[in-house]
Amino acid sequence: MSKIKVMNEDLANKIAAGEVVERVMNVVKELVENSIDAKASVIKVELIESGVKEIKVTDDGIGMDKEDSVMAFSRHATSKLKTLDDLFNINSLGFRGEALPSIASVSNVLLKTSDGKTGTMVTLEGGIVKDVKSCDLKKGTSITVSNLFYNTPVRLKYLKSLYTELANVSDYLDKMALSYPNIKFILTNDSKELLNTSGNGDLLKTIHNIYGVVVASKMMKVEGENDDYKISGYISYPELTKSNRSGITLLVNNRYVKSNEIVRCILDSYHTYVFKDRCPYVILNIEVDPFLVDVNVHPTKMEVKFSKMDSLLSLIHEVISERLSHKILIPKANPLNVEDNYYQDKYEEIYEVNDKVLDKPEKSKVEEIRFDFDTLNTKKNEENQEEIEEFKEDERIKNMYPIGIVHGTYIICENENGMFIIDQHAAAERINYEKYYHALSTHSKNTTSVLIPYKIELPNNEYLILEKHFDILKNLGFEFEEFGDNTIIIRSHPTWLPKYAPLESIKKIIEVIVTQEDFDEDKFNEKVSITLACKMSIKAGDVITMPDITYLIEQLRKTKNPFTCPHGRPTIIAYTKYDLEKLFKRAM
Ligand code: ZN
Ligand code: ZN
Repeated sequence: MSKIKVMNEDLANKIAAGEVVERVMNVVKELVENSIDAKASVIKVELIESGVKEIKVTDDGIGMDKEDSVMAFSRHATSKLKTLDDLFNINSLGFRGEALPSIASVSNVLLKTSDGKTGTMVTLEGGIVKDVKSCDLKKGTSITVSNLFYNTPVRLKYLKSLYTELANVSDYLDKMALSYPNIKFILTNDSKELLNTSGNGDLLKTIHNIYGVVVASKMMKVEGENDDYKISGYISYPELTKSNRSGITLLVNNRYVKSNEIVRCILDSYHTYVFKDRCPYVILNIEVDPFLVDVNVHPTKMEVKFSKMDSLLSLIHEVISERLSHKILIPKANPLNVEDNYYQDKYEEIYEVNDKVLDKPEKSKVEEIRFDFDTLNTKKNEENQEEIEEFKEDERIKNMYPIGIVHGTYIICENENGMFIIDQHAAAERINYEKYYHALSTHSKNTTSVLIPYKIELPNNEYLILEKHFDILKNLGFEFEEFGDNTIIIRSHPTWLPKYAPLESIKKIIEVIVTQEDFDEDKFNEKVSITLACKMSIKAGDVITMPDITYLIEQLRKTKNPFTCPHGRPTIIAYTKYDLEKLFKRAM
């Protein structure tokens, strides 16, 4: 029986809009998806001159009989879709059934295929069948598309540079390999191998094949489900990031899709774990009833929408933050092999040392990190008994004993596991950040009146914005009144404000109010906490005593995320005992 069905006119017309073959990647995509539909377990893509000269895709799938192999190139024929309903069903890969004839019409095509019984060879030029003959072939299909656009020379110009074409194909095949870890994908360009996955079904192995061993060794498995969705995959340790989002792969029912909303949710979940503007590696498969998915059918966009988006976003957020908060994330120092972006990044904060050094004794900055984290943690543990089983607060970072300080900034500590270096500013900043954030998000209403009221004058434009947001100040617990031109008088402020620099802190809060775009309570709390923590914490170079250091470490260990400052810089770097032994060649 013929596996190719003639599709109805309506569907053909729906598709026609997006059928234009304009990129090498689109051709590769069509051919590879045909191979997947043919149940291939090995798919080999061979390009010559980035595919502009020749694209050859070979698979070991079910192949076609003679009738199908000729039909495949006639218009309105597709094996993939029968009705318009299928178009919206994300379980079926293709909706570009017309692409094969389109591809054939602008190139030379050689099709060799065998269903295991008969082998067929079809030769086409510019969409016209020149030759059909039977021959002996192994089961599977190979399609060679050469001289793409040979009969439309003008369009060749529009193909972007060879490099871009190749990069797009390579990126696409990476995503396909991640979508189908049980299929072996091979990509070569001018005989040079660019990708070769194992196809053994192990996603982590595929990650290794694509991103290399360093990335694969820093991925954590995640999974979770709620009533509507089930998600699973791998996420990277926060220390492993990229400057763009290309490390994030989203799959819906194993099909590669794009969704800005989900990417934003993932980045939010990593917030304060990674340095600003850095993106983690995440491969996430979302299993869902296809009826909850609304695919934007434009063939090149792959954008999806879900009818219960909130439910999905909260599941993703929950699973990722859970995973990050249950993992020991101290990056290991690797001085012999300083790899990738992580250490090479210019941390803007390094330069903040001389930035507005506050004219106050350091002692009060040490005082600032006082906060009873224990009350917080006890409460949390009562809420969730199971959590205690899984991870005891103290085990996240074992106790460390300070030895001394280097460059007035880096605290050296040790314990039975090795040597640790703590950045005193980053550590204090993390503690204060969590403290302020807690106060803000629990709407702590304790206020302190000031003996001599603070007078704050603002530039006209800023005052106009502030005026509109007086309610924010009120909700925070400030008592104040307008006092003439562009001036307010503060009579009392929330108790949690940094003790030694309340006025400066109030000014910072006002600055956040007048510079934000749309008020979002969460983002506002976040911004205020980060700003205050950065400005009010012990700085690099501040002199602190040994007991202060001990206290700082103790407090850091109690925070929810002791591993990074709220900007995503590391607070602790570890040299394990073994690292030290290796460095001194005591161990191999
Ligand atoms: Zn800072
Ligand atoms: Zn920071």
